[in-house]
Amino acid sequence: MSLSEPTIFERIVAREIPADIVFENDRVIAFRDIAPQASLHLLVVPKTANYSNVAELAAGDAALLAEVVDIASRLASDHSNGQYRLVFNTGADAGQTVFHVHAHVLSGALEEGTLAS
Ligand code: AMP
Repeated sequence: MSLSEPTIFERIVAREIPADIVFENDRVIAFRDIAPQASLHLLVVPKTANYSNVAELAAGDAALLAEVVDIASRLASDHSNGQYRLVFNTGADAGQTVFHVHAHVLSGALEEGTLAS
């Protein structure tokens, strides 16, 4: 738990708010994005609130970042055709709205005019 207000993803991890969870282990949770921008749009989220973006995660726990990528790839195979975009928005000007590191996994038909294009 971080010292600041918990993000929406911490609240999903804590089961305080519902989510369509497709994968979970001790360190990572994955669920469907509430506003999908592709026919498959998952968020793969380290449970720790220690890292607000991917660069912090890479510097602080490279193995956890590798695990996020591996899980994303496996979920894209399990739920789509195994071909996907992996997006880490970093900073509000780049579209980041939740400051708890997360990977967007986008696969299948992509919506236009979104982070996927
Ligand atoms: P970003 O804009 O990169 O920070 O991504 C945050 C993502 O979280 C957006 O794509 C939102 O649609 C998604 N999101 C926000 N609240 C929820 C929620 N309760 N359940 C699932 N996805 C959510």
